[in-house]
Amino acid sequence: MTDRYSRQVLFPGIGRSGQNSLQTKHVLIIGAGALGAANAEMIVRAGVGQVTIVDRDYVDFSNLQRQNLYTEQDAVDRMPKAEAARKRLAAVNSDVHITALTQDADAAFLEQITARNHIDLIVDGTDNFDVRFILNDVAQKKRIPWVYGACVASGGLSMLIVPGETPCLHCLMDTMPGTGATCDTAGIISPAVQMTASVQTAEALKWLSGNTEALRGTIFSFDLWKNQFSSVDVQRMKKRDCPSCGTEPVYPFLSYERTTKFAVLCGRDTVQIRPADVTKRNLAQLADHIKQTTTITHQNGFLLSFQQTPYTVTAFRDGRVLIQGVSSVEESKRVYYQYFQ
Ligand SMILES: [Zn+2]
Repeated sequence: MTDRYSRQVLFPGIGRSGQNSLQTKHVLIIGAGALGAANAEMIVRAGVGQVTIVDRDYVDFSNLQRQNLYTEQDAVDRMPKAEAARKRLAAVNSDVHITALTQDADAAFLEQITARNHIDLIVDGTDNFDVRFILNDVAQKKRIPWVYGACVASGGLSMLIVPGETPCLHCLMDTMPGTGATCDTAGIISPAVQMTASVQTAEALKWLSGNTEALRGTIFSFDLWKNQFSSVDVQRMKKRDCPSCGTEPVYPFLSYERTTKFAVLCGRDTVQIRPADVTKRNLAQLADHIKQTTTITHQNGFLLSFQQTPYTVTAFRDGRVLIQGVSSVEESKRVYYQYFQ
């Protein structure tokens, strides 16, 4: 496998020293949907030493049009995305140490994983601003650069956020946008995903290989259907009094109350419920209970699904529950409390 990275080493921006540097780095990828999967594939093929992928969802047929790591069999088996991604990526490049975690990237988790591991860079593969703002606060607190990426319809945008140097996400947005605005109700084409991920991975490779002089330093945005591209310098928008990156940071998105949380998932008629106090669910015990009233449609080491027409209920080992087929949070609460505390 000596020739594996030869073309990348030939590229003057990377060279032998850049390649050696990549091999010592650890990248954390939050989300293994379209953006996360596309970034993960490029980063693993590039030979970054260690990659950790976190995702809370399983593979669905509607993902296959743009989420390039997954197969029909993954959708049939309802494989957790992190696990399906790990399996595929391990087959692509066995040099890379890949860890898959099927769980929510909440504040507690992000604080823990960045405390236990030396993370060189975080890639944003999420689909919502709730997680991005938590990620932004953790990145600022632990001084870890992260690559913001978002895409919808035929467009996307990206920026590398470097603590202490660039403005942070909080500087750039005064208020948290409504979650409805980020859902892909407008649909999406795969080229918009691949383009956004390419811009993210390019900045990641520059940072990880030590080519900081090549960093773009702007917000890049595009629309492939309207043929528009722009690069905006936002350096002056860094705020001294920013609660996340200013002179006296309080990291507001890292404080969280312990309550059961209901969240509408992007692009699907699905609500996720995260109970306040369940850290691990006993799936075998739950299966015994469910079998008394209804039929289990899927069960693997990570999750258990059953049908309660017109809903599909999926319980994960980490305590979370997804209810598909609901049109509101209220409706999901009625279904949830029938089966869970
Ligand atoms: Zn800031």
